[in-house]
Amino acid sequence: MIISILGARPQFVKAAAVSRAFAQAGISETIVHTGQHYDDNMSKLFFDELDIAPPAVNLGIGGGSHGQNTGRMLEALERVFVDLKPRTVLVYGDTDSTLAGALAASKLGVRVAHVEAGLRSFNRLMPEEINRVLVDHLSDLLFVPTKNAVANLAREGIEGASLVGDVMFDAAIHFGARVANRRPPADNLPSEYALATVHRASNTDHRETLSVILDGFAKCPLPIILPLHPRTKARLDGFDLVVPPTVRVLPPVGFLDMIWLERHASVILTDSGGVQKEAYFHGTPCVTLREETEWSELVDAGWNRLCPPRSGDAIRAAVVESLSSKPEPASLYGDGAAARRIAQILVQEAATG
Ligand code: UDP
Repeated sequence: MIISILGARPQFVKAAAVSRAFAQAGISETIVHTGQHYDDNMSKLFFDELDIAPPAVNLGIGGGSHGQNTGRMLEALERVFVDLKPRTVLVYGDTDSTLAGALAASKLGVRVAHVEAGLRSFNRLMPEEINRVLVDHLSDLLFVPTKNAVANLAREGIEGASLVGDVMFDAAIHFGARVANRRPPADNLPSEYALATVHRASNTDHRETLSVILDGFAKCPLPIILPLHPRTKARLDGFDLVVPPTVRVLPPVGFLDMIWLERHASVILTDSGGVQKEAYFHGTPCVTLREETEWSELVDAGWNRLCPPRSGDAIRAAVVESLSSKPEPASLYGDGAAARRIAQILVQEAATG
């Protein structure tokens, strides 16, 4: 039996692709939700809309600091693994839930499988980077989305990773097909707009940086649609910052609505890992409000521009450039069968091991 550890929104999207492939391959999967994201529109909505089996266990651990969350999850997950005796624990991405799951399993001698292994921003100030590096070094099976990720692992002495493609591309194809005739996610949306998401600590935890981003939004040549992450909402309130009048704030939207917004946007501004890739999947140029990206092939292929938020004028300039860019079609993230490959490898591994 496999236990999959989920906790945060991007993990629900990845699991939607992988759990479907597991069901098709006859793999028995138990989902454990750490509770890291707990609002209905950051969690339950995704299980319902994306046909993910409800979690067998929800630890209800969220809202604390990185250390508090990781420590409490580690303790609780160890108990779950001792009780349920999984053969393999599967973790996704780079959150505290990923690290706690991998660490608890490896200390018990349970095999760890890491989906989205090998990504590096080379910025150790990002909590996510610490999680990625540690989890890759704890993992027995590493499922890697890109050749760059294989090379990153090799540089750290990790060989034998499986280059399967990106499970988020699988999800974009599968759920994208459901969006064709979908109604817009909100009334009176402008016909041309920029879609924005912001939630990284480096952009939200400092008043100065967050106000530069708002200034960039105000200077954008298009109105902005901003589905607002709860963390960013809390910071805006705490810093007493007001969103410019050209920004339409929405509550966090479900994945199908998000695909709709990504497809109809003229440009996307984001600091999200997943949204950078989805911009490309759905044919929309992207400006990434960060110093660096783990998904550097998007920058090389002309789909993404890095714009660290240093001034509103720089953000405006990056948006204007993106709007007139014509990036070439490229095949960067596999063929849409990454999840099926992961399932096949796990089936083979169970048969031989
Ligand atoms: N997403 C969503 N609704 C939103 C914002 C994002 O469904 O209001 C989806 C998005 O399409 C992508 C995933 O959430 O699939 C990305 O998650 P997030 O940006 O929270 O995390 P990151 O990818 O940066 O780890």
